[in-house]
Amino acid sequence: MEFVLNDEQQALREMLRTFVAKEVRPKAGEWDASAEFPRETVAKLGELGLLGAMVPEEYGGSGMDMVSYAVAVEEISKGDGSLGLTVASHNSLCTAHILGSGSESLKRKYLPELASGRSLGAWGLTEAGSGSDSLGMRTKAEWRKDRWVINGSKMFITQGNVAGVYVVLAVTDRDKGKDGVTAFVFPAGTKGLSVGRKLHKLGMRSSDTAELVFEDLEVGPDAVVGQVNSGFRDTMKNLAGGRISIAALSVGIGLGAMREALAYSKERVQFGHAVSEFQAIQWLFADMGTELEAAELMTFRAAFLKDTGRPYTREAAMAKLFASEAAMRATIKAVQVFGGYGYTQEYPAERYMRDAKLCEIGEGTSEVQRIIIARDVIRSH
Ligand SMILES: Cc1cc2nc3c(=O)[nH]c(=O)nc-3n(C[C@H](O)[C@H](O)[C@H](O)COP(=O)(O)OP(=O)(O)OC[C@H]3O[C@@H](n4cnc5c(N)ncnc54)[C@H](O)[C@@H]3O)c2cc1C
Repeated sequence: MEFVLNDEQQALREMLRTFVAKEVRPKAGEWDASAEFPRETVAKLGELGLLGAMVPEEYGGSGMDMVSYAVAVEEISKGDGSLGLTVASHNSLCTAHILGSGSESLKRKYLPELASGRSLGAWGLTEAGSGSDSLGMRTKAEWRKDRWVINGSKMFITQGNVAGVYVVLAVTDRDKGKDGVTAFVFPAGTKGLSVGRKLHKLGMRSSDTAELVFEDLEVGPDAVVGQVNSGFRDTMKNLAGGRISIAALSVGIGLGAMREALAYSKERVQFGHAVSEFQAIQWLFADMGTELEAAELMTFRAAFLKDTGRPYTREAAMAKLFASEAAMRATIKAVQVFGGYGYTQEYPAERYMRDAKLCEIGEGTSEVQRIIIARDVIRSH
């Protein structure tokens, strides 16, 4: 078994380390405080090919494998979790749904603008009344003469305010349950689409999150992504890949917090010693380092399984569950290393802790991951 990144993946990591040190780390605190979406930096990531990470070159993307993409999300998230979430959701939700299930003409129509970053992608499954139980969605699409007419709303949609392309799930045959849901794609500005409240959040504050409302939004039959009534099954496949990116996001946030805490612990002097010399503090780093390394290995393994065409649903859920909880534990420890200053906005530790919490909730909560894993473990043993 190879446990090392190849030369290309290593080069990508180095390139992003330089980019994040210059363009992200110095600004992340400001973006968080103002909850401002960093359009210019996101555009620069588009120029670097990070917004079409896994899109094949023929559609204008970078054609990366999943391991490389996980490396990229991790490196960006070390500097800023919100920016990591923007990249992860754009690539793994909206863009990946079109890439994985869309017709050739939909791919040609939407992927080049998404891959270049000319348009950002938003993807809507969750509603105010249905999250974990996503089949409880109320948004519906009705076939009228020659068009689909969509009515309903979506909640917590990343890039809701700033997207140029929306993929949205709607019920098309309520009696058929998971075989009665369809995905539709349409551009920003489509009549009948309005963006509701921008949501103010605990963390991931400079990632844009909004409510979407659809009132008699009309699209033609060519707006169906995949087949009519295949939307839920396509979504489940898509979310398995998305979980790898949330695992990478978690590892990045955890490692970013650990790096800040390490630097501080070497400078902060108490009782005549840097606090990094106290064993109690060293053990915090031992636990952070061990858990985050395990999380990274699980993340890269799930990505490797996907890249090599092997089943990876269980491994992706395990990576997401473990990495998000490891990130939460690591960021709490990082705040502890900073003592009182960790509890203030003078230092970034508290931002990492607030950002990490989202990873235990988004793209399936920890409880939902445990349901997926338990089902598979019990079936396979
Ligand atoms: C910042 C942010 C960005 C997001 N971005 C997107 C996006 O771009 N697109 C999108 O579609 N959605 C998005 N979401 C929604 C996200 O995926 C949901 O919030 C998540 O799936 C949980 O759903 P919920 O919030 O309705 O919680 P609920 O499903 O109401 O869950 C409440 C609690 O009950 C638990 N629970 C629920 N069912 C069970 C069960 N069967 N057994 C045990 N426990 C259970 C949950 O784990 C949780 O602890 C985003 C959310 C946030 C906060």
